[in-house]
Amino acid sequence: MPRYEYRCRSCGDTFELSRPMAESSAPAPCPAGHDDTVKLLSTVAVGGSASAPAPAPRAGGGGGCCGGGCCG
Ligand SMILES: [Zn+2]
Repeated sequence: MPRYEYRCRSCGDTFELSRPMAESSAPAPCPAGHDDTVKLLSTVAVGGSASAPAPAPRAGGGGGCCGGGCCG
């Protein structure tokens, strides 16, 4: 289930919700109970900040091991 980020315009809080895509544009009340929220761009697959510690696996192997350390 995709995660969406919302921002409350009443208290300025941002929060995430996991909900079906069909409900991505449905009203999402903030944790404080406000209904005046807006949906932000999804944080998934956004390449803006370079400081995000993405645990990307290094593809430098090329050997016969099963990824990372040898499992032999
Ligand atoms: Zn709020």
